[in-house]
Parts: sequence; structure tokens; C-alpha cells
Amino acid sequence: MTELPDRRLLLVHAHPDDESINNGATMARYAAEGAHVTLVTCTLGERGEVIPPGLGHLSGAALGGHRLGELKEAMRALGVTDFRLLGGAGRYCDSGMMGLPDNDDPGCFWQADVDRAAGLLAEVILEIRPQVLVTYDDDGGYGHPDHIQAHRVAMRAVELAAEQGWDVPKVYWNRVPRSVAEESFARLDGDLPGLPFDKAATVADVPGVVADEQVTTEIDGTAYAAAKAAAMRAHVTQVTVAEPYFVLSNGLAQPLFTTEYYELVRGERPGKRESDLFAGIGEAS
Ligand SMILES: [Zn+2]
Repeated sequence: MTELPDRRLLLVHAHPDDESINNGATMARYAAEGAHVTLVTCTLGERGEVIPPGLGHLSGAALGGHRLGELKEAMRALGVTDFRLLGGAGRYCDSGMMGLPDNDDPGCFWQADVDRAAGLLAEVILEIRPQVLVTYDDDGGYGHPDHIQAHRVAMRAVELAAEQGWDVPKVYWNRVPRSVAEESFARLDGDLPGLPFDKAATVADVPGVVADEQVTTEIDGTAYAAAKAAAMRAHVTQVTVAEPYFVLSNGLAQPLFTTEYYELVRGERPGKRESDLFAGIGEAS
């Protein structure tokens, strides 16, 4: 078996860009600190809305191929070398927004058999033996079918891997403390006149916002702010960045968080907020 570093982090995401937006600073920090960082992305985001008019002709498989290129560039920016598509590129395609006929496409991730997809992810878990797995909450953060399915598949894969010999000690969901979101939007409202964006999103548009006390873990990625912004910029079709803000295809400005927040949902809940995803993990594991 290949010798991997002592600390191993696995992130499970729905589309290329989700990893950089949610966890870019965390990924860059742990990669720089010598941990093994593995990203599994479940679809290529073939049904994503394209922002730049010059790339508006891209859709379906052509958009998926283009987004794979964006993902590669983002991973270069974050210093992450191990990134994979669940079951290989094109195994599962983007399901589109909730409620669209796209959700019925038999090849889309929303239609995937959860146990089968989780089996593919469990193989990665058994290979990497991560101490930490990061994914979304059961609403997928904001209700996108692929995000909900990524959550289900990740949580099921943890169970399957545990039965087969690797019990992931810590599982986290992406979170944003409500007070942080509210303060950031208050700042954004003040800054908006100077920004190249017309309108601001609201706290309700940010995935994973919860009461402050629900957040168990805070990763200070300030030193990796530039890497995170570069990774987000690499996703040209999906994201426009004007630090410390960005917009998605909905055109609404949001804060770009360089401190990233999590809720520990598997493992012993810490008494006070942790500053390291690997806190409490022994050297021997
Ligand atoms: Zn997504």
C-alpha cells in the first residue's frame, strides 16, 4: 500500500466549484501543512449556468469537460493533487436544480442508487483511510439535488467503510455561524457601491447558516485567502470574484469567507470550538 501522510482529509462535493467556495482555504492550509487532501466530486456540473457570455455556448458534456479543466486549475491553486470524480468522469451527471425535468434523467446523480454510489466512495475511503471527512448537511446546504445526494452518499459510504475496516473518526458538515454571516452582509451592504456587482445576496442565500453554538470548528485560512480566491477564479464559468466578495450565476454578491466553519457530526463533540479538523486524532491512526 502506498505510504500516505499521517493526516488524511477527504472532501465530498457535488460539482466543480463547491470545494473552492466552501473549503478552499481549509484545503490549501492542510495541503500546505503536509496532510493528504483528497477531493471526490460527484458530477461535472454539466447543467450549471454559465456566467461569461463568451462561454455561453457550453452545455452538457462540453460544459462538463470544460469544468473539469477549471477544477484542475483550482486544485493547482490550492496545492491539491488527489482529486477524483465519483466512479470516474461522467459516471454521474448533474441533476439540475430541484424540480426541473432534468432531475428524472436516468444518468443523473439524483437518480443514482445511493448504496451503489456509496460503495464507490467507500472504496476511496478504504484506500485513503481519512481521519476526517467533510461534506454537506442533509439539505445539501441549500436544497440542490446533487448536494443532497452527495450528503446521502457520503454518510452511507462512512457506514459501509466502517463495516469493511476503516471507521472514519470525524465527519463534518459545512457551516456558517449566523453572526458571521450577518456581520459579513452588513459590511457587504456598505461596500456594494464600490463593487462591480449590482445587488447583494442575503444571509438566507448562504448555504449552511446555523446558530453560532451549532458550529464546532473554525479553520483560520486567512493565510490562504489568495489561494482560495485563485481557486474560485479558476471556475470561470461559475464564479466571478472581487475580493472579498464573489457572485454566482444569480448575480448576487456574497462574502468570500477565508475562515471556514464546520459542525462535527461524527466523533466526540468538543467542549469549546476547535481550530483544527484533526484535533484529538492520535498519531497512531
Ligand atoms: Zn454545487
